[in-house]
Amino acid sequence: METTEKMICITCPKGCTLEVTHDGQTVLKVEGSGCKRGKDYVERELKDPRRMVASTVRVRGGTHPLLPVYTSAPFPKPRIQELLAELRKIEIKAPVKMGEVVLADALGEGIDILASRDMPRMTG
Ligand code: SF4
Repeated sequence: METTEKMICITCPKGCTLEVTHDGQTVLKVEGSGCKRGKDYVERELKDPRRMVASTVRVRGGTHPLLPVYTSAPFPKPRIQELLAELRKIEIKAPVKMGEVVLADALGEGIDILASRDMPRMTG
């Protein structure tokens, strides 16, 4: 069924508002894009929407109780809540190095969760 909806392209800071006509995952028309990457964005968004995710996990024995983490690649949008629930269950042990894998192959999506910063062990 043919549908028209508005989407905001997040590919660059311009953030164009696109008026998209599509039939399921088939893009029929895109209006309002500032460049041709707008159509690519719409196609990706309809077929396999993904976002980078930043969150925190608990850390034991570190200089802070929470360690900021991020996804190594954009994560499937429909599973982000599930991912955040999974991250809430994790507690890792300090020390941790920036870029270290905190959770490998999160939810079997082939994307790792990485430490955004060093977390030294608390001393004294
Ligand atoms: S359509 Fe092009 S100019 Fe507009 S936000 Fe997307 S990438 Fe940027």
